[in-house]
Amino acid sequence: MKYTQRTHTCNELRKQHVKQTVCLAGWVQGKREHGSVVFLDLRDRYGITQLAIDKSKFDSNIKKEYVIIAKGVVVERSQPNKKVDTGDVEVKVEALEVVNESEVLPINNETTEDPNLRLKYRYLDLRRTSSMSKLVLRHQVKKAAAEFFDKNNFLDLETPMLVKSTPEGARDYLVPSRVNKGKFYALPQSPQLYKQILMISGADRYYQIARCLRDEDLRADRQPEHTQLDFEMSFVTSKDIMDFTEDLFKHIFKKVLNKDLDDFPRFTYEEAMTRFGSDKPDLRFGLELSEVTSIAKKTDFSIFNSAESVKCIVVEELFSRKQIDEFTDVVKLYGAKGLAYATYTSEFEGGISKFLGNVSDELKKELKLKKNSTIFFVAGCKKVAETSLGQLRIKLRDTLELVKSDDFKFCFVKDFPLFSYNETEKRWEPEHHMFSMPKPEFVDDFEKRPGEVKGDLFDVALNGWELASGSIRVSNPKVQRRIMEFIGLSPKEADEKFGFLLNAYNYGAPSHGGMGLGLDRIVALMAETFDIREVITFPKNKNAECPMDDSPSKIDLKQLDELGLKLK
Ligand code: ASP
Repeated sequence: MKYTQRTHTCNELRKQHVKQTVCLAGWVQGKREHGSVVFLDLRDRYGITQLAIDKSKFDSNIKKEYVIIAKGVVVERSQPNKKVDTGDVEVKVEALEVVNESEVLPINNETTEDPNLRLKYRYLDLRRTSSMSKLVLRHQVKKAAAEFFDKNNFLDLETPMLVKSTPEGARDYLVPSRVNKGKFYALPQSPQLYKQILMISGADRYYQIARCLRDEDLRADRQPEHTQLDFEMSFVTSKDIMDFTEDLFKHIFKKVLNKDLDDFPRFTYEEAMTRFGSDKPDLRFGLELSEVTSIAKKTDFSIFNSAESVKCIVVEELFSRKQIDEFTDVVKLYGAKGLAYATYTSEFEGGISKFLGNVSDELKKELKLKKNSTIFFVAGCKKVAETSLGQLRIKLRDTLELVKSDDFKFCFVKDFPLFSYNETEKRWEPEHHMFSMPKPEFVDDFEKRPGEVKGDLFDVALNGWELASGSIRVSNPKVQRRIMEFIGLSPKEADEKFGFLLNAYNYGAPSHGGMGLGLDRIVALMAETFDIREVITFPKNKNAECPMDDSPSKIDLKQLDELGLKLK
């Protein structure tokens, strides 16, 4: 090993090194005494090597987690340890330096720890191979991505961390300016505007492994700061961007996990909702939704007769009352009034079977029913029927253990609605962000039929998680101004908030588009965990606090004074 006091890492020595004099360094993982010899397991990031120390020559009062540097000769072990890579050999120590002692670690039990304690002692948590290996994986993903961007002419360009506060979607983190009292920077929610402006500069292809900061309430898959593989391309269609993204993911998975990904199916939002009840479908299993509205209308079941939509899922399984109650709770959480069901053995039984008599043959045929199946129906408006059954589909996946976490099934979902109506604020707002282009057929009159407008938007979903969002951008300043006005920004506000972008558009913008890929989620799924904190070096807890450095913390009044601020 170069550039170090050591000759080797703790995972390098093999039989071929026998008789060589080596120098290793690391932490004492374990200690066993055997007569006049003390055996130490020496650990570093790479692995473990056994040291044999003659008690008569060295002070043997070394304890777990002491940091030592040891010199000695590699010898073959009489009883190899097949469990470690270096298990054929050990180092007979000839010189030993204790670099530092250690107290007993406050965390050392992998299973029973309180998560806050793990975060407080994250540096100790990271000594575990299981924790550090996830950061190693993250490094490999970034490296593979950078390689692929580079190979395809992308420039790695940094955009500012102190930016203008703009109403981009989430709440901004604000930074007061000392030099310009009363004025504030925002930390970037994403490099969105800057990467678009770089296209106007002619950068052509930009990428950045970018930190994005959003002051939102946290969940297991959200942190106040997250990292995106962020990119933008000039003179592209959405197909070009999706083709590139698909190849990028294929490259990363091949390089890092040696996995060949299947081609990514591309669903419109409509199709994803109709078939899977989700805009981020998990494709590792079936249980697709079926449309039975017209058949359901012929029954005597009044709830079916009056509903806009009746959809169902068929499962070749019979369930207990308790399980059905649990499933009902799931659909209710997503707005359904209830969950109707019937089992099919050789006839319809239970649940609402008594209403199905006159449609039983039609239903059997339509749903291609097999014996011992259960049909779950939701009736209501289309959106509720789809969304709630989509969630039931996920619940069934987990109940029936239908999937494996190392099976990676990607897809694109495209052509999302461009706007959604905010009932509380009584206004239309962009589904993704206001810089996304309506599909061409809506450009002329999107203001007149906002609910119908589809955007040139696309997401990547993997195993039920949204991993990335992107779009073709509005590059025409007139259309951009119309969108801003439509979502409620007056021309004056548009100029105040986004004048720098709108002005740049006056000097010849290329058509362009791009995406932001959520690196934390990608790595988490590759590491087969659902908690993105596992793949972040020093994450925050659910209250956006870092128990390790105790941030956020109070500051001196003097600091506030310098900024011209006063606490309320
Ligand atoms: N800036 C977007 C986001 O953070 C991604 C993009 O449209 O490129 O979701």
